[in-house]
Amino acid sequence: MKDSDWMREALRLAAEDPMEVPVGAVIVRDGILISGARNRQEAGRDALAHAELLAVRRAQEALGAARLDGCTMYVTLEPCPMCAGAIILSGLERCVFAAFDRRYGCCGSVYALPMDPVFPRRVACEGGLLREEAEALLDRFFARLRERGGNPEALPGLPPEEVYHRRDGLANP
Ligand SMILES: [Zn+2]
Repeated sequence: MKDSDWMREALRLAAEDPMEVPVGAVIVRDGILISGARNRQEAGRDALAHAELLAVRRAQEALGAARLDGCTMYVTLEPCPMCAGAIILSGLERCVFAAFDRRYGCCGSVYALPMDPVFPRRVACEGGLLREEAEALLDRFFARLRERGGNPEALPGLPPEEVYHRRDGLANP
């Protein structure tokens, strides 16, 4: 499968629960799906239950190993500082994301944690793959939230619409 096929799988997960901010992540090694997850912040009442962290934990369980050597993560929104840290610490080889997050994105937008030479180990990050699809999913979610009178700013760590977006090119091509 191509990168875009895996990203579509992450988009499918992102859209599974209409109550959650639609972000999905899958972890792949040697062309095989190791794990997948979507946001569970509402269901878990857990501000830290981001798709990326859950996907890392599930991959560790599936592989029976703490380090995800040789694995690639595909995630529909640029990882936040917490998840960028998890990407470094879990030993992932590569991270591909769709929409950019100009508020919390730490794989090139606000900061570029996994690529920072200050750390002993770097993880290649590429942004913008199927960005339009991911943005459309997020836009629809936030439009529905507004209709219900919800406040996107109240969702910890996640961007209101108009924030993740419109950045051309890759974070680290
Ligand atoms: Zn995160």
